[in-house]
Amino acid sequence: MMVYLICFDQPYKRVRHYTGMTDDLAARMKEHRRGRGARLLEVVSGAGIGWQLVAVWKGGRREERACKNLKNAGLICPRCRAEVLRRRAETARARYHRRARALATEERREAA
Ligand SMILES: [Zn+2]
Repeated sequence: MMVYLICFDQPYKRVRHYTGMTDDLAARMKEHRRGRGARLLEVVSGAGIGWQLVAVWKGGRREERACKNLKNAGLICPRCRAEVLRRRAETARARYHRRARALATEERREAA
């Protein structure tokens, strides 16, 4: 058994990845290309959004579940990881600056 990760060329309703599991990857991809086997890929293709198989690794239901539980498969997607990390860093930086400013305001207030 193996687990695979599909990355959409554009997000569909904020979803960008599909995780699946198979023992015959070629047959499974052919099925997906024909719009069968997964409702999500069916609607994504229907919306005119292309997709790519971006990663395959050994595993079964447990690994597939672990991947879905990440909630953000972009973290393990070779196409999206850099962008996801960049956005996370940006959010952390903004939070840091907000906090530092709030503390400075507090200190000024206490000093007054
Ligand atoms: Zn991706």
